[in-house]
Parts: sequence; structure tokens; C-alpha cells
Amino acid sequence: MNIPPPVRSDEKYNESLIEVQSRDDIPEAWRGTPIESFIMAQNFGWPIVSTGKVELLIATCIEFRYALPVPKMYAYVIRRASGRVIGSEFSVGYTLSQGVRYLVMIGHNDCGMSKVYEKAPHVVQAFVEQGWDHEIAEEYVSKQAERHSISDELDALRTEYIRLTNVFRKLVIAPLFVCLHDSRLYIPKWYPEEAKNAPDAPKVPAELIRNLP
Ligand SMILES: [Zn+2]
Repeated sequence: MNIPPPVRSDEKYNESLIEVQSRDDIPEAWRGTPIESFIMAQNFGWPIVSTGKVELLIATCIEFRYALPVPKMYAYVIRRASGRVIGSEFSVGYTLSQGVRYLVMIGHNDCGMSKVYEKAPHVVQAFVEQGWDHEIAEEYVSKQAERHSISDELDALRTEYIRLTNVFRKLVIAPLFVCLHDSRLYIPKWYPEEAKNAPDAPKVPAELIRNLP
């Protein structure tokens, strides 16, 4: 698997991402929080010093071309294909009970989940090699592919950001995008607008909770 070209040389991303070139590019709401420390560590190599208590929850893709810049005793991490938290809401709840107040969710370019249907036959084959019946493996992969597939990495991040601001009303959520070429973090241009649209009401509708996967 290759490292894709930098997002800054891609017209699509140039129009949709803000490069964090200094602290001034970090939104006001994230300043002085572990979100700022995380961005500064990733983009500028600032050291993260563990205080011995958990500061952050990080949700990102399983992607092996991206390594997180965090020491032990600093963050809980949920890594799932595509980076979406769908199906891991209980894990989020647990981290909240342990003191987490900030969530950083990181999308990335060239995500395998944007090509999941193309890769599906290989995944089926991998299960078959593990002793799965071919038909059952196909059935399983087709069901899961539907759930994991994303058509565009940045749109998927946006949809998940909106969903999470509805499910977790007090958690401060920072949607970020990492360039696999140089591991630099960017902020989606849609963030300020979507942050303004986040629900004000403190109560989460019961239906939304009951329908969690
Ligand atoms: Zn990915």
C-alpha cells in the first residue's frame, strides 16, 4: 500500500480544509484544551506531558499509515474502520465516566472504507481462509460493507460529527483530518458552521438512543 500525495496538492482538499500552520488557526473553543495540545503535538512536535489522568478520547480509522502522537496515560483511543464511532457509543460512555470531556475524531485521505466494495471479494476470501463457509462469508461481508462503506472521507466525517453532537450533548468534539503523506492535521472548512448548528437542547431524544446500533 502506498502513501498518497499530500492533501495540500489536491484541489478538492485545498477547497475544503484549513491547514493548521500555527496556534492562531485553532478555533477559540479548542484553545487551552487537550484538543489544542494534541494538534500542536501532531503538527509541530510539541511534547505531550501526561498528568497521570485521562485528557482525551481519540477516535480514528484503523489505518496503519497513521500513528498517533500520544504517550501512555494520556488518551483513550477507539480505532475502527473508517474512524466512525457507530456501534462504539458504549465505549464513549465508559470514557466519559472516567473523566473524558474532549473527543478528537480524525478522518484521513485514501481511506480503504471508501473502496470497500472493490475490496470486498478479498475480505470474503480472507474469511474463507479462516474456515468460513464461502456463502456465509459473502453474506456477512455484504452486510458489513453497507455499514462500513463511505463515499467521501470528509463528508463521512461531517455526518459522523453531526451525529455525535446529537448523541453526546456536552462532549466537546473536534473533527480533524489527517494527511497520510506527512501526518499533518487539518480542520474541515465546514466545522465553524456545523459547530453553530449543534443542538442546544440538553436532552437526547429517546428514539435516537434506542436506535443506536
Ligand atoms: Zn481509513
